Amino acid sequence: MVVKAEYIWMDGVKPTQKLRCKTKILPDIDEVSSLDQLPIWGFDGSSTQQAEGHDSDCALKPVQYYPDPIRGYPHILVMTEVCDPQTMAPHSSNTRAACVAMASKHSDQECWFGIEQEYTFFDGIKPLGWPDNGFPAPQGGYYCGVGADEVYGRDIVEEHMDACIDAGLTFSGINAEVMPAQWEFQIGPVGAPAAADELWIARWLLYRIAENYGVSATLAAKPIRGDWNGAGAHTNFSTKAMREDGGMAFIEEGCRKLGERAAHHVEHYGSDIESRLTGAHETQRWDEFSWGVSDRGASIRIPWNVAAEGKGYLEDRRPNADVDPYVVCMLMIESICDL
Ligand code: ADP
Ligand code: MN
Ligand code: MN
Ligand code: MN
Repeated sequence: MVVKAEYIWMDGVKPTQKLRCKTKILPDIDEVSSLDQLPIWGFDGSSTQQAEGHDSDCALKPVQYYPDPIRGYPHILVMTEVCDPQTMAPHSSNTRAACVAMASKHSDQECWFGIEQEYTFFDGIKPLGWPDNGFPAPQGGYYCGVGADEVYGRDIVEEHMDACIDAGLTFSGINAEVMPAQWEFQIGPVGAPAAADELWIARWLLYRIAENYGVSATLAAKPIRGDWNGAGAHTNFSTKAMREDGGMAFIEEGCRKLGERAAHHVEHYGSDIESRLTGAHETQRWDEFSWGVSDRGASIRIPWNVAAEGKGYLEDRRPNADVDPYVVCMLMIESICDL
């Protein structure tokens, strides 16, 4: 038997890293049952903006693996970190290493993350299902809609959900979004770096499955200008103290701490964020900070059920859909637990 191992990594493209992948055949093996069965591999960094042509090798260090829901058992998807091939130090594009370090420093706080990934299907140059000329009817009926005139791409969404569950991801749900052809899935609640690893794998599965339909998925923050919602990656966060009785005091303290470094967060929350965080379309402006219960126009929202129970979690509504979840998790732990 052979195992097909799909090695997945983030490239060095700026401002938004893209996913890259290639398949390694592991010969004479029935199944993979531990990480140390997976060899370090490499790639041509000069083709991914991670190296110069004269010194082009980058190393791929396996850090996590999942059952491959597309190829099926015993094949696997392998999350990797990009490293220097000589020293195995993290490459400058490797944001996971810092996330791991920050998360392990505060492991006693048991931080959990739930990330809501919004995205938009495209058919060529227009959103899937949109007319060739002009626009669909204005927003209003599409959010959580049902019916061929309300939502586009549900077959892909369902197949993607099944694939994420079969890969063992901590998948918590899906819904159709405010703009037609826009959807959301949620990962979590789970710790770091798992939440970020799983989000990147779920993104990879989304692109890969949509390929079979000739459809692309984009994480662009504002794929259509004008009176159309942008796409975000709301990040829900809690510590053990926030989840326990009396947690509300810790949640409010967390909101205040996030406010102290608001500009620093926004700077790292995705490209073209000013076009999405305008103060309209259920956002707070990128250059203002506010928090409140049930307030979808705030930077940070405390869900009503959390306020009612007096414990739970907070929702950072600012990250763009295209954000690097390793960076978001690292920054949230740093601002709330480290400083
Ligand atoms: P919204 O009402 O903002 O659309 P969603 O239901 O889409 O909310 O997403 C809520 C997210 O919060 C889910 O990903 C869920 O896993 C996550 N979540 C729930 N409880 C917690 C918690 N205690 N800590 C962190 N995340 C949580
Ligand atoms: Mn949601
Ligand atoms: Mn949403
Ligand atoms: Mn939300």
